[in-house]
Parts: sequence; structure tokens; C-alpha cells
Amino acid sequence: MRELRQSDFEPKEKFWTRFPPEGSKFTPPHQSMDFRWKDYCPMVFRHLRELFAIDPADYMLAICGDDALRELSSPGKSGSFFYLTQDDRFMIKTVKKSEVKVLIRMLPSYYQHVCQYKNTLVTKFFGVHCVKPVGGQKTRFIVMGNLFCSEYRIHRRFDLKGSSYGRITDKPEEEIDETTTLKDLDLDFVFRLDRSWFQELIRQIDRDCEFLEAERIMDYSLLIGLHFRDDYSGDEMKMGPHLRNHSTPSRSGGEVFDVVLYFGIIDILQDYDISKKLEHAYKSLQVDPSSISAVDPKLYSKRFRDFIRRIFREDKR
Ligand code: ATP
Repeated sequence: MRELRQSDFEPKEKFWTRFPPEGSKFTPPHQSMDFRWKDYCPMVFRHLRELFAIDPADYMLAICGDDALRELSSPGKSGSFFYLTQDDRFMIKTVKKSEVKVLIRMLPSYYQHVCQYKNTLVTKFFGVHCVKPVGGQKTRFIVMGNLFCSEYRIHRRFDLKGSSYGRITDKPEEEIDETTTLKDLDLDFVFRLDRSWFQELIRQIDRDCEFLEAERIMDYSLLIGLHFRDDYSGDEMKMGPHLRNHSTPSRSGGEVFDVVLYFGIIDILQDYDISKKLEHAYKSLQVDPSSISAVDPKLYSKRFRDFIRRIFREDKR
């Protein structure tokens, strides 16, 4: 592994490898059809994986080994598909060409940001690749950290943007369970954190949002997973030291719960392009413009941060 050079970040830094079924000098034999595999800015991602303490062999085996990937049942609105590796550590998301472009464009500042702030909440990207069967379509995908990789069971999950229009689950109450991703208007908790946690969280959210705003990114979410401590079995208490663990009481109505929180900022590959500007203009005719998710990155970041300050509180008890 050598030092990174500026040229490693260039968009033309992409390399195709052919995978013939019979195998080659560099590739193993396999049972699917002939395909080609592309790595984007491989040297940069090699450094990122090292920074995020991902063992190269673990990564290779999780993504390309014999174990099948698990497809998640509900792909997001964007039409992306999501897969988890068997070990639960890596999440694969299929993305559009425009999203790959955004990621490669922001890669130098992303790299700088994650090196500078080891507690950053922005998605940890481990790789960007593309596969193309001979004569078939290209499928582009990113590999990122699964925020909910934990010995603890996640009882509730929320995807929060700070906007209100359409930000409610469409599931009837009796169908809501641990796998449902709830949204802003479903949230009836306030998260109370110890003073130092609270201050560090707000500081880091501000830094992360400044970075996203400078990159003209919007439409991102704070993904939160909750583990209610009152509902654990002995086994679930084994927790690795690498996990983000915020043990906090939180409140709903009068009720107070002791919970473990997992969170991070996801879906950071949407820039404020013409389609988002049109979405904003169109929806503004129908509803209050400030309630729409699609707004200018500066406004988006301000609204997002204000929202975080409303749902997280310093625990003064
Ligand atoms: P939409 O267009 O509806 O916002 P999308 O297709 O762009 O969605 P994301 O917002 O990236 O997709 O993710 C959809 C859901 O997948 C999230 O709400 C979350 O439940 C899950 N998810 C995404 N990224 C992660 C991650 N890194 N770790 C764990 N879960 C994730």
C-alpha cells in the first residue's frame, strides 16, 4: 500500500477486470456467466478501508465469498436494492450513475473529512463497484457500513430528515414492527443524553452538515436504531467495544425508557440537481414549501440541524 496521490481521486481512476467462468491468472473460476467487474478509485477506498479498520480479507470474503448476500425486503423510494453480507457488517446499495458521480466528485473532501473527524456520523463508504455480464446491463453499487450491526436487537428504527411532508409511515399500526422504518411524524420520543455526549453530538452534526452543505448535498437522513434495555435476554448483553453505544433514557409522554441508540447520517449522494429543483417547485404549489424534503442544501442543513436540536436534549437530572 503506497501513499495516496491526487491522481488516485480522479474520476478516470477506474479499472475493469474480466471474470471468465473458467478463471484466469488473476481471477478464480466461478459458475455464473462471463462478467466484468469495475473498481472506482481503488487506491482511495483501500486507504478508507484501512482507516475504518476493515481487514482486506474479511472484506473480500464478505462481498465475494461463497456465502449468499441477504436481500432486504423493502427497497427505498429511489428504487435501489439493499443487501447485507452474512456477517452483517456490510451493506450493499445499488445506485444510479449520477450517485456514483456525486461520490467520486466529493471523494477528496469526504476523505479529508473522515480522516479529520473520527467520530463523524456520515456513512462509511468502503467501496464503489460496477458489474456487467457480457451482453448485459451495468449494475453500480456502493459498499458501506451497516449502522445496525450489533449484538443488541434493534427494536425500533427511524429515518429522519427534519421535513414533514409525506414523512409518516404508510403502514397501519398493527403491522409496525422492528423491521419497519418509521419517519419524522411517527417519532414520539425525545432523546436525553448526558451533557458531554449531547455537546459532542451537536458539534459533530454541525461539522457533518457543513461538509454536506459545501458539497451541495441534500435529502440525507439521520437513521436511528433503538434498543430498549428492558427487553433484553442475557445473550444480547455481549457487546463489542467497537460499537457506537449511547445509553440514554428517552421519553415518550410520561414514560421514560433506558435505550441504546445507534445512529448515522445516510443517503448522502443526492445533490440539488435539476430534478430536485423541479420537485421543490412542483410540491411548493401544493403545500408549505418549508415542509418539503427537497430544498436548497443550505436550507436543508439548517432545518436538519434545528430538528436534531429538538429531538436530542441535554439530560439535566
Ligand atoms: P429514499 O429515496 O426513500 O430516501 P433510498 O432508496 O435512497 O431511500 P436510503 O435512504 O439510503 O435509500 O435507505 C433506505 C433505508 O435502508 C433506510 O431508511 C434504512 O432503513 C436502510 N439503510 C440505509 N443505509 C443503511 C446503513 N448504512 N445501515 C443500516 N441501514 C441502512
